[in-house]
Amino acid sequence: LIALGIETSCDDTCAAIVTSDRQILSEVLRTQHHLHEPMGGIVPKLAHHAHMRNLPEVVKEAIQKAGLGERGIQEIDIIAVTRGPGLAHCLGVGLNAAKTLAAALNKPLIGVHHMEAHALTARLTTRDPATDQDQASSDIVPIGSDPYPSFPFLTLLVSGGHTLLLVAHSVDRYTTLATTVDDSIGEAIDKTARELDIPWLPGRAGGPGASLEEFAKGSQDPTRYLDRLPIPMSLRNNKWEMKFSFAGVKSAATRIVNQEKSTSPTGEMDEEKKKDLAAGFQNCAVAHLCQKVEQGLMDCRKQGLEISSLVISGGVGRNATLRSKIEEVCNQFDSRAMKASKPAGRRASAATEGTSAATEVPRQPVQVICPPPKLCTDNAVMIAWTGLERYQQGLVDPYDIDIAPKWPLDMLGTGVVPE
Ligand code: ATP
Ligand code: FE
Repeated sequence: LIALGIETSCDDTCAAIVTSDRQILSEVLRTQHHLHEPMGGIVPKLAHHAHMRNLPEVVKEAIQKAGLGERGIQEIDIIAVTRGPGLAHCLGVGLNAAKTLAAALNKPLIGVHHMEAHALTARLTTRDPATDQDQASSDIVPIGSDPYPSFPFLTLLVSGGHTLLLVAHSVDRYTTLATTVDDSIGEAIDKTARELDIPWLPGRAGGPGASLEEFAKGSQDPTRYLDRLPIPMSLRNNKWEMKFSFAGVKSAATRIVNQEKSTSPTGEMDEEKKKDLAAGFQNCAVAHLCQKVEQGLMDCRKQGLEISSLVISGGVGRNATLRSKIEEVCNQFDSRAMKASKPAGRRASAATEGTSAATEVPRQPVQVICPPPKLCTDNAVMIAWTGLERYQQGLVDPYDIDIAPKWPLDMLGTGVVPE
């Protein structure tokens, strides 16, 4: 099966062609960063007009580059498009194009939830460690093997607009364990990068977050502001609240910048201190995510959900500190034992008493999976892939579907789509 995917939910115009045996035939992305950067954030009207200008060429290029067979565009079996959530007018550009193409070519249309696509990207790009140990080069897509990770898995979706810890039960079915009560992590990172006036890295993907990560590497003392950057939503009455919050840490960083500026003879914050603050802020945000992931894993264990992997996705998922710290958390979890409550464990060990230690179930930590960085930020490859996953489950949409700018992921599978 071959899918064309179209993504226009935010500020990137993207099209891609992907096969059900996990080959990316083409991917084209026209970024609009240069338009929005000087404005200090994404301007919906500018994004809408840029999508209108760019999408025809982007789709044309994706089709040309895919090396389709002699039937050309007719070789495409399904048309997948981001239906929501996102900026309404921007979504409309992609959805109208996809509907028209699908109707004209008489192909099935699949309206994709953008966050489901972020969550399922890992199943396009990851090898099953049971059959293939080589995880490092996850860019190389194995052909014909079963999608991995298998359901259910946990997903930490950290992006410009979302901060979600989810259980992915199956295609079309997700439960939110935690979401943010205020800013998304991406918003907080971008604002802090601006406050710190971190040099923009031209040509480097990932935007302000990538620049902040690079800048923080130069820190000599990441703990300099430790006591002024408390980890949000920490332990309360011996219980973790399953919520994220990034507005507090963002404001704390802003306060530190302002205070340092006001006490500096030059009126500017010292470069060394800026780097320490960038690193301290990043560590604080990551520690916050780690605490909730740990709690989420424990909650799943209590519910008897056998979680063997955790997928980190969304743009902030490119962050190396985040990846390694989450790995540390997950390494402590024995996913095989997730179902085993203590008494069962005692029974098991009593049964094997006297036998050799080799019969013990080997420790198997929860595996952390990070899709390749360029597939963590917005792209149409994930939309095409999700279209294929949905189509294979018989999930097809009529040609008259509308955009869904606000669409909670938990509503997938209910048949209700808020318009
Ligand atoms: P959503 O998917 O919620 O609609 P979005 O699509 O705009 O939002 P993404 O493209 O997934 O968001 O992610 C963009 C965010 O990722 C930005 O806030 C950017 O600063 C951040 N980001 C990118 N690279 C890194 C990095 N290396 N470290 C931290 N943050 C990063
Ligand atoms: Fe996104």
